[in-house]
Amino acid sequence: MGSLKILVADHVSPEFAREMEKLGEVVIKPRLSEEELCKEVEGCEVLIVRGSTKVTKKVMEAGKKLKLVARAGVGIDNIDVKAAEERGIKVVYAPEASKTAVAELVMGLMLCWARKIPQACRELKEGKWKKEKFIGTELKGKTLGVIGVGRIGGEVARKALAFGMRVLGYDIVKREEMEREGVRYVDLPALLREADFVTLHVPLTPQTEGMIGEKELSLMKPTAVLVNTSRGKIVDEKALVRALREGWIAGACLDVFEEEPTKNLELLSMEHVIPTPHLGASTVEAQRNIALILSQKIKELMGGGKE
Ligand code: NAD
Repeated sequence: MGSLKILVADHVSPEFAREMEKLGEVVIKPRLSEEELCKEVEGCEVLIVRGSTKVTKKVMEAGKKLKLVARAGVGIDNIDVKAAEERGIKVVYAPEASKTAVAELVMGLMLCWARKIPQACRELKEGKWKKEKFIGTELKGKTLGVIGVGRIGGEVARKALAFGMRVLGYDIVKREEMEREGVRYVDLPALLREADFVTLHVPLTPQTEGMIGEKELSLMKPTAVLVNTSRGKIVDEKALVRALREGWIAGACLDVFEEEPTKNLELLSMEHVIPTPHLGASTVEAQRNIALILSQKIKELMGGGKE
């Protein structure tokens, strides 16, 4: 087996790059346009992307030698899987690798919201000691609604239960082990009506796109907070801005946006919004796990490894 030609078309950690270099000749070219990607992918057997690069039919047609597309992470909504199947190109990803990272971010965002940490931090750096402005609330005893109780949603549920939260779940599949651990499955309207925090963990599919719109936001409590670390397009951003402006809900913690990098300054500038720039899987540990899982899968499928 000769040395593989691997194109990495997104930013990856040096450790990730080193792991891939064990498999073959690696070219790292982040932020390519579709046209540039089509040019670069020519002659490569493996294409590795994170979430921001779209692997379209055109890209796969240009990659005449392409055998495998690897998504460094979870969520393959940026890859035209059907076009890949038609060409016999395999699509692999690392589903387990980032669940802890995303679940810990969700807990962090909820704590930031509940204890007003970003606001207090900002004011103190400006030289203001306004202790009385920052009376927070506790997560203990609050109700968390988890939409999509899969790998990440399940991990969030466990962590929330450990914090003493009551956890409601909504999913098309009910998992007995989650019920045993304390998650109570309800329908979507009941979850939205009862939860103090609603966290989204469904994949982006035609069924989940726009799943949280005006109707759903209007069911939530005026004191409730929406947390989205799944995909931006699951929430109708226009409806969210309206819900926040008119006080249908109290706030939102957002790691993902309809368009990324987001240009929705109206949403970002709202006092009751805590935004992060798609940091869900951005931990040293998650990136290491992703690299190890993907290199294993690439080896299995391509027989990689330098001669
Ligand atoms: P998963 O497949 O383990 O879980 C998804 C759950 O959603 C499943 O239980 C599934 O049954 C449920 N589901 C699917 N369609 C549904 C629908 N229409 N209604 C209700 N439930 C539905 O996936 P996961 O590993 O937990 O990841 C979830 C998503 O998180 C990924 O698809 C990805 O988009 C996102 N993610 C984001 C980051 C980040 O950096 N912010 C990192 C990793 C993953």
